[in-house]
Amino acid sequence: MSGKEIEKTTKNLTVKTTVKTTEKKLGKINLLDLSVDELQTLLTNLGQQKFRAKQIFSWLSRGAERFDEMTDLSKSLRELLSNISFIGSMKIIDKQISKIDQTAKYLFELNDNNIIESVMMEYIHGYTACISTQVGCRMGCTFCASTGIGFIRNLTPGEMLGQILKMQTDTGKRIGNVVLMGIGEPLDNYDNVIKFMKLLNSPDGLNVGYRHVSLSTCGIVPKMLELANEKLPITLSISLHAPNDEIRNMTMPVNKLYSIDKIIEGCKIYTEVTKRRITFEYALISEINDSISNAEELAKKIKGMLAHVNLIPVNTVKTSSFKKSSRKQILDFKNLLESYGIETTIRRELGTDIEAACGQLRRSEVENKNKMDTCNKKPGVQI
Ligand code: SAH
Repeated sequence: MSGKEIEKTTKNLTVKTTVKTTEKKLGKINLLDLSVDELQTLLTNLGQQKFRAKQIFSWLSRGAERFDEMTDLSKSLRELLSNISFIGSMKIIDKQISKIDQTAKYLFELNDNNIIESVMMEYIHGYTACISTQVGCRMGCTFCASTGIGFIRNLTPGEMLGQILKMQTDTGKRIGNVVLMGIGEPLDNYDNVIKFMKLLNSPDGLNVGYRHVSLSTCGIVPKMLELANEKLPITLSISLHAPNDEIRNMTMPVNKLYSIDKIIEGCKIYTEVTKRRITFEYALISEINDSISNAEELAKKIKGMLAHVNLIPVNTVKTSSFKKSSRKQILDFKNLLESYGIETTIRRELGTDIEAACGQLRRSEVENKNKMDTCNKKPGVQI
């Protein structure tokens, strides 16, 4: 098929992608990026029957990585598909499994050789995938392993889905919960993230309920409000990590754009529109944000909101000198919040022996590969 013909066939499809793969250069489309409706359009353009779309979507959702696995499609249709499209599955380049709790951390290579990271964890209620939404991140949080190694590009919806599919096929386990808490800022890749969540929720596909999806953001307020209007009953987590702008400006540069007061105002609107309780994530860093007066300041700001606080002992990363708070400090912080009637949990630490905290494995890999050409950027938000 010529480039022009491929273009004609795929022209009604609304896939936003910046991927420059060899395949993409040839004008091919990643089938994992497409919804059932879009697959139908594609098939109609190819002069094929519409019902094939659900068959293809179902194969992809079951982790098919090659067209010849799609045995209920004719050979000629499979050939036609492979002329205009590809299945953008992930390639595992490293996998570490925690000896303590079986948490599995994957390093995946994308079609353009970029590297991302995903984690699969087991909780009492099943398996949870923590996935990346971007290659790198622009937010510049000083405690995060992804800071300083640059932002490369957004992930497409299919590349987000692909992380889950690969972990499912690799382990033979069904993933029932998904958290968008890996590398990247989901609300900085808004359209692709929304489309991914819809693909994930599709009854013809993985059928993961929105209530089993959590999206974590550093607080891009206008996008939080846009998300509220999508009316998807997901859980919104806000990475607050500080009780005041002075501390937050220091650890999270994005705060200079959206201050704590603006975020709280945005959260109030979000909960009013969605009726969904939000989570405030608070990573406790010794002597930075973990004092009782910090807890009190936070409690006064958020009391009465439809929200709960999740305290996280900060993960020490090589690139920052931040230290974890002591167990006693964490418990005192929790007690203080609870004395204001704020429901507070302490996040269970998983995969501590494999550095399961986001971005650390990828960082080592990127550094090892000497891909530090984009890495001399100073920490600081780049939006
Ligand atoms: N950009 C999004 C999601 C990715 S980071 C966000 O900011 O929420 C996922 C979560 O891990 C965020 O709450 C982030 O603040 C937190 N995080 C990053 N580095 C961490 C570290 N070293 N210790 C504890 N939490 C960390």
